[in-house]
Amino acid sequence: MNKNSSNTMALAPNTSNKRETVCIFGTGDFGRALGHKMIQSGYSVVYGSRSSQISNLIPKDAEVLGHAEAAQKAAVIIIAIQRQHYNFLTPLAEVLRGKVLVDISNNLKLNQYPDSNAEHLAQLLPGSKVVKGFNTVSAWALQSGTLDASRQVFVCGDDAEAKQMVMNIVRALGLTPLDKGSLLAAQEIENYPLQLFPMWKFPIFLSLGLTAFFFFYCVVLDIIYTYIYEKSNFSFFIAITIPNRVCPVMALILLALVYLPGIFAAIIQLYRGTKYRRFPDWLDKWMLCRKQLGLIALAFASLHVVFTLVTPMRAFVSWRTGEGIISQALNNKTEPLNHTNAWLSDSYLALGILGFFLFVLLGITSLPSVSNNVNWREFRFVQSKLGYLALILCTAHTLVYGGKWFLSPSAYKWYLPNIYILSLIVPCAVLVVKFVLIFPCIDKPLTQIRQGWERNPKYSK
Ligand code: NAP
Repeated sequence: MNKNSSNTMALAPNTSNKRETVCIFGTGDFGRALGHKMIQSGYSVVYGSRSSQISNLIPKDAEVLGHAEAAQKAAVIIIAIQRQHYNFLTPLAEVLRGKVLVDISNNLKLNQYPDSNAEHLAQLLPGSKVVKGFNTVSAWALQSGTLDASRQVFVCGDDAEAKQMVMNIVRALGLTPLDKGSLLAAQEIENYPLQLFPMWKFPIFLSLGLTAFFFFYCVVLDIIYTYIYEKSNFSFFIAITIPNRVCPVMALILLALVYLPGIFAAIIQLYRGTKYRRFPDWLDKWMLCRKQLGLIALAFASLHVVFTLVTPMRAFVSWRTGEGIISQALNNKTEPLNHTNAWLSDSYLALGILGFFLFVLLGITSLPSVSNNVNWREFRFVQSKLGYLALILCTAHTLVYGGKWFLSPSAYKWYLPNIYILSLIVPCAVLVVKFVLIFPCIDKPLTQIRQGWERNPKYSK
C-alpha cells in the first residue's frame, strides 16, 4: 500500500465503521491484546511475526505475515517487542522508511538505559517517524475491557502528523490521548508505569513515624502511668481511646505541615529579596507533596469523626455515665448545670464540625475532576484562604477542648505534656508567622518580590 494514501486515510473523517489497516510487530501478550481491541474498533490488523503459523491465541480476523511483508500493508506499525530485540529492525530500514512506528515498550527499572527506548528506535531507523504511546496501558486491561486503571495514553513524537495519526487510533479504541510533546518526553513516559505513588512516599513515611510516636506516647501516659500510680488497668484504651487521641493530633499537625513550606518559602524570598533563586531541594520536594499531606490529614480527621461518633456505644463510657448518676443519687444531690462548661463543650464541638467541613471542602477541590473546573484564582482561594481558615478552626477546636486544663499540673504526667499540647506547637507557629507575614509592611515587599521585583537585581539597567 502506498504510504501517502494510508496517511491521508488515517486523517480523513470516517464515513464507515471500517478503518485502515494497522500492522503490529510481535504476537506476544501486548500485541495480541492490542490487535484484539483494534479489530473490535473496526481496524484491519496484520501481524509481523518471526513465525507465520497462526496460533489460536491470535485474533481470528487478523493476518500473520513476515515482518517486511506485513509492514508494507500499513502506514502505522506498532512495535510490540522488547527493546533488546530492536536490532532485528535495522535490515528492514528501507521497508520502514516514512512509516509511523509506535514504540509501546517499557523497561524493568527506572532509567534502565541512558536514552529512552523510543529515541533508541528513532536512532536505529532515522527514516521512520517514531511515536511513543500505549506503554501506560496493560495488556490485561486492553483484553478484559475493564480498563480499571487510568484510560490516559501519553503520546509523544517529533512528527506532528504521525503523532496525530496515533492519537486518532488511541481515541478510536476508547482511550484518552495526552500529548506530551516531542520524543524528548519519552524517558519520562517510560518511567511512568514503574513509579509507585512517587509523591506519597514522604507523606506516608512521615505519617507512619509520627503516628507510631504519638501512639507510644499515649500508651506510656494513659496506660502505663495509670497502671503504676493508680493501679488501674486501662489497656483497652488501645482500641478506641488512644486512636481517637492520635487521629486528631495527626490531622492537625499534617494540616499545619501543608502550610509550613509556604511560610518557609516566604521567609526565604524576603531574606534573598528575589524569587529568581531556587529553593533548597528539601523545600521543593515538600511543596510538591502538600496535596498528599492534606489528603492524609483528611483521612485522620475522618477517622477522628467516626471514633467520636461511636463513643456513646462504648461500655466504658456507659459505665462512667452510670457511675456519675448513681453517685448523685446516693448523695441525694443533683449537680447544677455548669454554664461555662456547657459553652466550652458546645463551642469546641461547633469549631470541630466547621473545621471538618472545610477540611472536606479542601479535599474535594483537590480532586482533578473538580480542580479542572475552577480557575487558578478560585483554586488558590479555596486551598489557601479556606485552608488557613480550616487550620484556625481546628487549632481553636483543640485549644477550647484543652482550655485551662492544659495549664493544670495534672496534665503533666512524668513532666510530659499531654499530646494535645504537643499537637498545637506546629499549627500555632504557622498561624503566628502567617499573621506576621500579612502585616502590610511585610506583605507589600513579599508581593512585589513574587511579581518579579528584586532587591539587588543581577542585570541592572
Ligand atoms: P511478550 O509476550 O514476550 O512478546 C514479545 C514478542 O516479541 C514475542 O511474542 C515475539 O513475537 C517478539 N520477539 C521476541 N523475541 C524477538 C526477537 N529476538 N526478534 C524479533 N521479535 C521477537 O511481551 P509483551 O508482554 O507482549 O510485551 C511486548 C512489549 O510491550 C514490551 O516492550 C513491553 O514492555 C510492552 N508493554 C507490555 C505491556 C503488557 O501488559 N504486557 C504493557 C505495556 C507495554 P513473534 O513470536 O510474533 O515474533
